[in-house]
Amino acid sequence: MNPPCGRCKKPVYPTEKINCLDKFWHKGCFSCEVCKMALSMSNYKGFEKKPYCTMHYPKTSFTIVTDTPENKRLKQQTMLNSQPRPVAPPAGGVRQ
Ligand SMILES: [Zn+2]
Ligand SMILES: [Zn+2]
Repeated sequence: MNPPCGRCKKPVYPTEKINCLDKFWHKGCFSCEVCKMALSMSNYKGFEKKPYCTMHYPKTSFTIVTDTPENKRLKQQTMLNSQPRPVAPPAGGVRQ
């Protein structure tokens, strides 16, 4: 009985088997989840049992930026903007 491929679910035969992230993969199926770049045991990055290339590995790209000064400023601005304003600026009246 051959184990199913982690990507395409078809059986993986010993000759084309990559054993990684607790799953078996066809060599051709072991590619980045995002860009489908072919990966190997030496250059893949595993995340939630899926292979990614270095570029698309989810790691911290979306969470590390929460506390920069710029982000704090933006957050404050958003809070100000969400408060009710008595007068709205005239739309399109300033362009000449
Ligand atoms: Zn496959
Ligand atoms: Zn990628």
